Amino acid sequence: MRTVFLNLCLSGIALASCDAQTPPQSASPSFEVVKTPQEWKKALGAERYRILIEKGTEAPWSGEYNLHFENGIYHCGACQYPLFESSSKFDSHCGWPSFDAPIDEHRIVETVDRSHGMTRTEIQCARCGGHLGHVFNDGPTATGLRYCVNSLSLGFEPQSDSASAKPRTSSQPVHR
Ligand SMILES: [Zn+2]
Repeated sequence: MRTVFLNLCLSGIALASCDAQTPPQSASPSFEVVKTPQEWKKALGAERYRILIEKGTEAPWSGEYNLHFENGIYHCGACQYPLFESSSKFDSHCGWPSFDAPIDEHRIVETVDRSHGMTRTEIQCARCGGHLGHVFNDGPTATGLRYCVNSLSLGFEPQSDSASAKPRTSSQPVHR
């Protein structure tokens, strides 16, 4: 006769997954495109310099892209980094071009702006730091966001109807 002893071996499970590695939050992100104020002023002209570099705001309803609804890509007015697709643009009736999402979230840097007695979220181009405007949580579309952008912070590259007719969730690779 043989007695079978089942040894239930409860091996210790090491729960060592608590890596306390939170990356340090960089207060001042470094940008790929860096120019001196003089270089920016020369490259942008006085009007764009005031908005993009000195974080100004153009007068509402004054910008060329406020009521502009052609198909294409809106890029940074300072470094031409593509930021928004026309499919994300909507008429917010606020006097500035408004988008519900950037092309991808990594193209925009968000920082807290406490100027003018308000607490707002400033948006900047992630490549050059150019001031774009602000993002608000009152958007009317599914994202709930309203990226309120100065026209002077943008440039526009039209696309043919066939190219822009593709859904923006297309998984096709982007050829540069
Ligand atoms: Zn830029």
